[in-house]
Amino acid sequence: MAQDLVVQRPQGLYCPPGDFYIDPWRPVARAVITHAHSDHARIGHGQYLAAAPAEGVLRVRLGDVNLQTLRYGEAIEHHGMKLSLHPAGHVLGSAQVRLEHGGQVWVASGDYKVAPDPTCAPFEPVKCDVFITESTFGLPIYRWCPDQELFADINGWWRRNAERGVASILTCYSFGKAQRILSGVDPSIGSIVVHGAVEPLNRAYRAAGVQLPPTRLVTEVSDKADLRQALVICPPSAAASPWVRRFGEASTAFASGWMQLRGARRRGGYDRGFVLSDHADWPGLMSAIGATGAQRVIVTHGSIPVMVRYLTEQGLQAESFETEYGGDAVEADAAPEPAP
Ligand SMILES: [Zn+2]
Ligand SMILES: [Zn+2]
Repeated sequence: MAQDLVVQRPQGLYCPPGDFYIDPWRPVARAVITHAHSDHARIGHGQYLAAAPAEGVLRVRLGDVNLQTLRYGEAIEHHGMKLSLHPAGHVLGSAQVRLEHGGQVWVASGDYKVAPDPTCAPFEPVKCDVFITESTFGLPIYRWCPDQELFADINGWWRRNAERGVASILTCYSFGKAQRILSGVDPSIGSIVVHGAVEPLNRAYRAAGVQLPPTRLVTEVSDKADLRQALVICPPSAAASPWVRRFGEASTAFASGWMQLRGARRRGGYDRGFVLSDHADWPGLMSAIGATGAQRVIVTHGSIPVMVRYLTEQGLQAESFETEYGGDAVEADAAPEPAP
């Protein structure tokens, strides 16, 4: 029987023939990193390999680590194994890891999204024998609407608030989601103010050639009237802190895939909820899995039992890996706390 190219180990997903890990959660000698979200890209590894467009955001997150990068599609040979990275469409620099060895091809996808996103390269279907998929939003209830509708909603909310002289505080995860929101809002409505946790990532996006509208830190806004018409983008920790008080009266909103769940917005105490995710929805997961042609699928972080059962019913060999990725936690970091 052919050797599995990726197996579970206590440190993370391990590639035996290549002797490296993919997104390990404990310190290892060699780590291939699919993307810079904190649960996938951790500090403490000896060597890092990632896609070239991820370098800036990884450095913001990890500092001066020993990092080698590959262009998307560029292949390297390592211990008789061929490795290449392919766009995952999740956030800037996110990559699927393609491994070829002994006549088999495996793809570990990390986190991915198939819907278009102007802030990162589009998801590339990669043919393989075995596909490792996330399942963060792996329930049939999760279906995202097109960006055009979503941004019409967000811009409409901001415009109405600005006309009333009320700031619009939009809470979201600082890396990925914040930049995707920035890329879709209409900067003619008013000033855009971002929290200090967001701006270093904006800089890394701009340095990578992603177009974002002008943004300012609150300390850079001298005319207080500007703040009353501003769109304010901040992480949940800031939305719950005294930092937001300086904006005075404000309308609050939260952007997350979890906003599709009935009651999530109300429980978080937000005025509005926008359904926006950097993960694939249910149809996206199914189309991505189908496009690989894989007969064997290994499901990680999210709705594992539902996905494994569904894929098995479709005639695929489906199983799961236990991981320590937040999956939910990355977004749960951004998800509203239930009221006490
Ligand atoms: Zn992620
Ligand atoms: Zn993840």
